[in-house]
Amino acid sequence: MPYNPLDIFEIHDNALCISGKSIAELDYSGIKPPCYIYSKQVVAKKIKLLRDTLPKSIKIHYSIKANPLPALVSFITDHVDGLEVSSMAEMKIALATGIDSSSICLTGPGKSYEELEIAVKNNIVISAESSLELHRLDEIGTENMHKPSVLIRINPTYTQKRAGMKMASGSSQFGIDAEQIPELLNWVKDSCIDLHGFHIYSGSQILDAEAINFSQKKTIELVKQFTSEYNKPIKTINMGGGFGIPYFSKHTPLDLNSVGKNMQALSPVIESIHSEQPINTIIELGRYIVGEAGIYVCKVVDKKISRGKTYLITNGGMHHQLAASGNLGQRNRKNFPVYIANKIYSPITEVVNIVGKLCTPLDLLGDNIELSKAEVSDYIVILQSGAYGYTASPINFLSQPKANEYLM
Ligand SMILES: *Cc1c(COP(=O)(O)O)cnc(C)c1O
Repeated sequence: MPYNPLDIFEIHDNALCISGKSIAELDYSGIKPPCYIYSKQVVAKKIKLLRDTLPKSIKIHYSIKANPLPALVSFITDHVDGLEVSSMAEMKIALATGIDSSSICLTGPGKSYEELEIAVKNNIVISAESSLELHRLDEIGTENMHKPSVLIRINPTYTQKRAGMKMASGSSQFGIDAEQIPELLNWVKDSCIDLHGFHIYSGSQILDAEAINFSQKKTIELVKQFTSEYNKPIKTINMGGGFGIPYFSKHTPLDLNSVGKNMQALSPVIESIHSEQPINTIIELGRYIVGEAGIYVCKVVDKKISRGKTYLITNGGMHHQLAASGNLGQRNRKNFPVYIANKIYSPITEVVNIVGKLCTPLDLLGDNIELSKAEVSDYIVILQSGAYGYTASPINFLSQPKANEYLM
């Protein structure tokens, strides 16, 4: 059966339901659109699928940047092995879950001295993105008489061709160029740094299992090479992630079985890498865990026809859901899966443009899309909104009301 994001949720009486309740019932009980609703059940299902399909030895980390809602992060933390953070605020959200801080990893370019210092003092693992950052970590370690736990993030020489968003290879602000690493490793040996291992993250939103398998194989080979040059045991390999989810009709879901098999095939190579205990092998995922679990809901407040085109004007918009408006890195605008939540299927349909409250033509949530015929007070739902939804949107633009966020 082809993938249909509607299948993630239940439909009763032609209405999309979460936890057995329709959007109208939820609205009546105080769950007020414009809002995001995240389903714990869907998140738990995704993590279980990962656990069931990937080798048992693989540690799954959640990348908070995909969705930093504290209640959601806290729920996810009970189901995963660690958290990936990229800012002071994310670090605080992660620490507040009560997770063992050595299972938190701080990544990202341009970390401030203060961020590094707080990470070191809290025993958080730091993925170093530049040689200057390594030197700062050495300084902080020496000053505090506390060895920083560090991964070196590698900018590899191979290219991840099929990522929705490339984040490694060639010239990059991420990681340290592979060819600079041997010399740095010599320096690290005499520094105050406790080098736990290496990190590679090559890109986001990858639906092609072959591409993931290729980069994971290359990652392990590179780590093996660097570890033998380092000539000391390592403890950790963070081999990235980038697992994508389908957004548009031409997308097919990632073949997770293939990724699992490839990881299994890599385990002897991982076991052959110089270490004193089994290597902590991590994948870090954001979108794959939360993307399908979240919906964005807004309400139709006006309907009009302008020169032959029908507009549904909502109380939401791209200030809440930028990605669905096509303005978050899309080259050709495509519609997210959008429905009338209280009339999912209807014999009477209409081609409409769905827009938000912002005074810009960019604020388009659905372009020329055929939906059940809608009226004022109907609910618009945008599926696949759990990752890079609210958190990646310009919420202050036009000073419109914020969206509510609910975890159910
Ligand atoms: C953004 C990011 C992730 C998460 O990416 P997803 O595509 O949401 O899984 C993981 N690791 C790093 C280093 C990142 O920058």
